[in-house]
Amino acid sequence: MTVLAVDVGGSSFKVAELEGHRVLRSARVPHRSEPADLDALGDLLGEWLGAPAGREPARAAGIAVPGVVDEHGVLRSVHAKVGYLVGLDLHRWFDQRLGLPVAVDNDARAAGWGEYVAGAGRGAEVLLTVTLGTGVGTSLVVAGQALRDRAGHRGILGGHVRVAPGGRRCTCGGTGCLEAQASGWALPGLLAERLPQHPGSRLATGSGFADVLDAADAGDVLAVALRDELVGWWGVGIAGMCALAGPDVVVLTGGLAAGAGRYLDHLRTTLADLAWDTTALPELRVAEDVWASATLGMADRARALTERTPL
Ligand SMILES: [Zn+2]
Repeated sequence: MTVLAVDVGGSSFKVAELEGHRVLRSARVPHRSEPADLDALGDLLGEWLGAPAGREPARAAGIAVPGVVDEHGVLRSVHAKVGYLVGLDLHRWFDQRLGLPVAVDNDARAAGWGEYVAGAGRGAEVLLTVTLGTGVGTSLVVAGQALRDRAGHRGILGGHVRVAPGGRRCTCGGTGCLEAQASGWALPGLLAERLPQHPGSRLATGSGFADVLDAADAGDVLAVALRDELVGWWGVGIAGMCALAGPDVVVLTGGLAAGAGRYLDHLRTTLADLAWDTTALPELRVAEDVWASATLGMADRARALTERTPL
């Protein structure tokens, strides 16, 4: 049986058709955060249903969104860029447009579930997954269950743990949240402040975290400082989450984890420095495909829908 999975990102919809955990095909649909983009997504999914990559058309779908999803699968709050999705009934949209049942969830929780069932988190007793991307998302899987609640908040708001009270201003209205100190969206602000003091730096206002890692490897002073600062904050945030939840495995995923091999030792050292008991440190792993975690998770949720619904 095949299913469709969609991960709603700030610049594209990541779309995949899967059989089991195997991706049969995948695509990206541009997302300028306009309602019309949903039509383009619907067109592609409709084409795929009409010409299945597997033996038969997909029987269900799953969609991961960057926001809080309540127990009914309705978006309650989202990243500002996709604000048009708030209140949209995605169950109705998938039913009317494609005739498919759909599972809807927060993208960080979806990523954690994907890593648990099909990725680097397999076999964990307590799995903490940290998505380092535009923002910082978290999720916990405990004894085979992804933590969730009626309001949709449980486990996912680790990016808004206050690691630096009085620190940088956050999109949530607070200051010093983990993602305000260290995330994809925080990086341009940090660069704008620091670049004037480093006229010789290879970095520029539009540099991304991959550029920072490259420049740091080449010895660029500003890049080394920024890399170490971001990784240091992630260490503080993750150490706090570990003290509370006691995961045996921590998985990093998301775009800023793409080069994690280059800073993993620093992160491990920070976690060890801040740990209560260094003999019980979690195993730190990186997703095999940092772009696929959420679609893997939503594909599994979609399959579960078909098991529950009588044919
Ligand atoms: Zn915040």
